[in-house]
Amino acid sequence: MQYTEITVRYGELSTKGKNRREFIGRLNGNVTKTLREFPDLKIYPKRDRMHIALNGTDSTAVMAKLRQVFGIQNFSPSITISKDIEILKQTALAMMQELVPAAKTFKINTRRSDHNFEYDTNQLNLLLGDYIYDQLPQLTAQMKYPDVTLRVEVRRDGIYLSSQTIKGAGGLPVGTAGKAMLMLSGGIDSPVAGYLAMKRGVAIEMVHFFSPPYTSERALAKAKALTAKLAPYVGTINFIEVPFTEIQEEVKRSVPEGYLMTVQRRFMLRLAAALAKKREALAIFNGESVGQVASQTLESMVAINDVTTLPVIRPVATMDKNEIIKIAEEIDTFDLSIMPFEDCCTIFAPPRPKTKPRLDKARYYEEQLDGAALMARALAGVKITEIHSHDEFMQSDQDQIQSIL
Ligand code: ATP
Ligand code: MG
Repeated sequence: MQYTEITVRYGELSTKGKNRREFIGRLNGNVTKTLREFPDLKIYPKRDRMHIALNGTDSTAVMAKLRQVFGIQNFSPSITISKDIEILKQTALAMMQELVPAAKTFKINTRRSDHNFEYDTNQLNLLLGDYIYDQLPQLTAQMKYPDVTLRVEVRRDGIYLSSQTIKGAGGLPVGTAGKAMLMLSGGIDSPVAGYLAMKRGVAIEMVHFFSPPYTSERALAKAKALTAKLAPYVGTINFIEVPFTEIQEEVKRSVPEGYLMTVQRRFMLRLAAALAKKREALAIFNGESVGQVASQTLESMVAINDVTTLPVIRPVATMDKNEIIKIAEEIDTFDLSIMPFEDCCTIFAPPRPKTKPRLDKARYYEEQLDGAALMARALAGVKITEIHSHDEFMQSDQDQIQSIL
């Protein structure tokens, strides 16, 4: 069926009273960015819905992209016709014909914003219901949980018909909740944390620590490839790589083994906080899950979190590994995450990190280092790349990763 429009219904934002304008504006911006590869589309963000005129563009490809945009409850591809009752009957019939025999029960649901139209909603429901039943007697009308609901909308500029409602990504438009830094490793958990942050409307920038020559270019490419997997939810994501070699070497040289990990993590968080401040982000997100490993006990969090007063939000904190993996599979980051590239933490990980580090000791060991100078040098070496899901170089990174397997 050649659809002419996609009608988008807003999610939670319709309940947000006075923020509504900002939400719709932001959603409009995000949808526009996500769909920019389709030049013929025209997007009309209205108060209670958004209309996307297809102007000949194939609806399937557009809908695949729309499914990833947060802030959308559901959407329907529709056909626009002139306000002629005969054309309406024929179009409704043609749409239903495509759905039998799979569909056995149906319902007509009419809305009317043009109150001058000669038929009201009840009349239209009856008229169309009768007509379809006469033509397709194998169908039964059913008001509760029908197989198909044919939606008919009489607007000023025409009548819109749709027979499918496709579930959207839910959540809030990315950006409406402000900006945060996501500490992105190459593991399973942090990409999932990033996805969940965006789902609640938070725009994220990736902060990735890498330690050449202990970690390879491939480990860096993997983190960028993971970022590209999350980019479609928002358009583009900034990837901030922070050189971490010197800090790790210094920490390794002067901190007792049991506290290596705690002190390293304190530096990571402190650097993420410094970047947040510089780039006007309001919080830090990470992929920690309570009790998963030694650095993720509550005691450990106390000893690490000490370095900043910014909110550190841990979206997967209470999830089991299986629950996190399930989301990683849904967002297609899992296969990349499990590729065996060394991470800066694994290489410098002590064999027996303290599972219950003490805050006073962590602070004491850290004071032996020239923290300010180490931080300044790491920050001076930061490199920022804007990553888009279609970036050519990301594609080749992915190929490179594939060829290594
Ligand atoms: P993940 O699966 O996200 O790597 P994990 O279970 O392996 O998590 P850790 O490696 O202990 O746990 O890391 C905990 C969190 O610290 C990560 O989720 C991430 O937010 C942050 N982190 C760890 N390593 C890095 C890194 N190299 N760059 C940026 N952040 C990191
Ligand atoms: Mg990890």
